[in-house]
Amino acid sequence: MAIKCPFCLQMAHCRSSQYLSDSVKRIYYQCTNLDCSCTFTALENVEKIISKPERLTEEQTVEETKMQMRKGQSLGRYGSSFTLPDRHAQT
Ligand SMILES: [Zn+2]
Repeated sequence: MAIKCPFCLQMAHCRSSQYLSDSVKRIYYQCTNLDCSCTFTALENVEKIISKPERLTEEQTVEETKMQMRKGQSLGRYGSSFTLPDRHAQT
């Protein structure tokens, strides 16, 4: 992270940071201009959610898919063995 120094407009580098809340962070900057060496803080915060992950929907879809696959597999397996006249004849 870098930001322009408010005094000399040279780039300042992040030295440390601390979260003030879940979505707000205070960042400590130091100017890279040796003649200035200004230190200052800036706040970084979540401004706007552009798109959010739809994890819940994905999990539901995956779970539904798994259930459908299991149902299909067991139906096919047991369906074919139940059609045999004598189940002991397989061994
Ligand atoms: Zn500066």
